[in-house]
Amino acid sequence: MKNIAVIGSGTMGNGIAHVFAQNRYNVSLIDISEEALNKALSTISKNLDRQVAKGTLKEEEKIATLKNIAIFTEMRLGVEGCELVIEAATENPDIKFKLFQDLDAICHEKVILASNTSSISLTKIGSHTKRSDKVIGMHFMNPVPIMKLVEVIRGYNTSDEVTKTIMELSRKLGKVPVEVNDYPGFVANRILMPMINEAIYALFEGVGGVEEIDTVMKLGMAHPMGPLQLADFIGLDVCLYILRVLHDGLGNPKYAPCPLLVNMVTAGSLGVKSGMGFYSYQAGSKELVLAPRFRK
Ligand code: NAD
Repeated sequence: MKNIAVIGSGTMGNGIAHVFAQNRYNVSLIDISEEALNKALSTISKNLDRQVAKGTLKEEEKIATLKNIAIFTEMRLGVEGCELVIEAATENPDIKFKLFQDLDAICHEKVILASNTSSISLTKIGSHTKRSDKVIGMHFMNPVPIMKLVEVIRGYNTSDEVTKTIMELSRKLGKVPVEVNDYPGFVANRILMPMINEAIYALFEGVGGVEEIDTVMKLGMAHPMGPLQLADFIGLDVCLYILRVLHDGLGNPKYAPCPLLVNMVTAGSLGVKSGMGFYSYQAGSKELVLAPRFRK
């Protein structure tokens, strides 16, 4: 495999393109927004500069990596000649179903169609194609160039051969792939999101304040980041969305999202991306400051 297409050039898409290009794959980076594509190239360039400054990458490798990426707004042109397509577009089922239907129609029948979805069923995505045996989840973690894990999700019909190909490919990228089955939240979010929801419930019920809850988990459980800070980083809207997928998909009331989380999302407090969540964020500042609402 040498030619890869990545669809969606946002937070995850640019990271996925970066990792493949650095490992000498030809990458077609595709987005409906030209602005997003240009922003992605500039983000990749800045992240490569950081690697050069740290001494983990040579200047000529940075130049070669950037040369391996071509950008496209026309999907049909971008996927031409690719052996694998990794979809990392917005987490919206209708967008993904339509993308896979179109990809199935334009890509050669041998092409593997992967999705970086955090929560949408791969079995459902596969059912929008005529090649559900070649549809698979390739769930990278954020930030992609740094995080080692790839959660490889098998849809109900995904073949052994395709799973093996994707596991081996992930290893070639220097990642550690873990094979899991297609049930709501897969493994990563099935375990992470209830923990985050429980931390929000503990805050909501007054068991502890934001800093107290995060400190207990950081110092007591050796988590690098407390669950409330992590929720801000992921995006509170994303957390709420995934909890709803768990709640609807598994039908167990223990996954019901905390009313405080629902209120925060409704009020536009989405975490780092909106500048306000459990903490308040200012561009350029790395200091962790409590959101005014949660100060004592
Ligand atoms: P994002 O909003 O940063 O980027 C999404 C990009 O997709 C945008 O640039 C948008 O223009 C583009 N897009 C939308 N519709 C498109 C279409 N039809 N064709 C081409 N491009 C299209 O989103 P993100 O955070 O990078 O998430 C992408 C995927 O990765 C989602 O499925 C998400 O669940 C998953 N994911 C996200 C994270 C995370 O921490 N952000 C972690 C793991 C997985």
